[in-house]
Amino acid sequence: MKAVVIRTHGGPEVLKLEQVPRPQPEPGQVLVKVRACALNHLDIWRRRGIPGVDFKLPAITGADVAGDVHAVGAGVEGPPVGTPVMVIPGISCGHCAMCVSGDDHLCARYEVLGEGTDGGMAEYLVVPAENVVGKPARFTYEEAAAASLTFLTAWRMLVGRAELRGGETVLVQAAGSGVSTAGIQIARYLGARVVATASHPRKLEAARALGADEVVDYTREDFVERVRALTDRRGVDVVLEHVGGETFERSMRCLARGGRLVTCGATTGPSARVNLSHVFFKSQSILGSTMGSKGDFHRLVALFERGLFEPVIDRVLPLERAAEAHAALERREVFGKVVLVP
Ligand code: ZN
Repeated sequence: MKAVVIRTHGGPEVLKLEQVPRPQPEPGQVLVKVRACALNHLDIWRRRGIPGVDFKLPAITGADVAGDVHAVGAGVEGPPVGTPVMVIPGISCGHCAMCVSGDDHLCARYEVLGEGTDGGMAEYLVVPAENVVGKPARFTYEEAAAASLTFLTAWRMLVGRAELRGGETVLVQAAGSGVSTAGIQIARYLGARVVATASHPRKLEAARALGADEVVDYTREDFVERVRALTDRRGVDVVLEHVGGETFERSMRCLARGGRLVTCGATTGPSARVNLSHVFFKSQSILGSTMGSKGDFHRLVALFERGLFEPVIDRVLPLERAAEAHAALERREVFGKVVLVP
């Protein structure tokens, strides 16, 4: 089968389209014929390498997969061959205390698909049978792939961690990112008022179209001042963060008393200063979040089926153009997801 293989760390040029053996489903596994696979920052970190992190190479990345069940291993009762599915992007042991209590994303052996095992930047992949869910009929494969990890992440951040409620105000940073496009829609669904930041008029317009009540061009205005002006100096109840170093300190300054900042990433760097006196005097919370549980994913699919959320796709490219896809995401020139199709 065709696959995009990373053999050495480096720029987009290290991504090579190769012929590799097609995997076979072992007992309890499903072989999925990949129809679409969306790109995440994780694919970029895996390609570049991170100092001190020992990534297994060669690697086939790709966590956001939609496709068809092509074959099933021994003992797998369903779904039947030919069923269109979304792939739940996290793999866990299935029997530790976290897994059996429904927090499988907190399993000590948890891995994002494509992290330690081969991912979906290929024509086929194998996953545990519990990692496939029927694809909502109203989504194309590209839409299903684009919705997977971003909605799962944003759902867990806003619903599970920050406990965002109707009537509250949320600041969503970097509205063009996949997680933020999902976060805006989930916040609206919960009944919150949404303030979104972005860097370009096209992205600001798109954020508004997704449901942001207010948009802030952070390259032209100070988003802290703007948030204060929009909230009668009170600040927002929740900040959805993943930008990291460049914005974290100012994101904290946007928080109201009792406010919660929830972060799932640090695309501009992992270090930030925190004014602890604000944290305790204002009873604020800093919450980390990564991925979400399989239960979260099933609940999201039910909402997708009801037409409540729309995945945002910037562009769809053939697998052969994976390097171009990585470069576009790295330059932050995209709004929503870049999807590759084999
Ligand atoms: Zn476990």
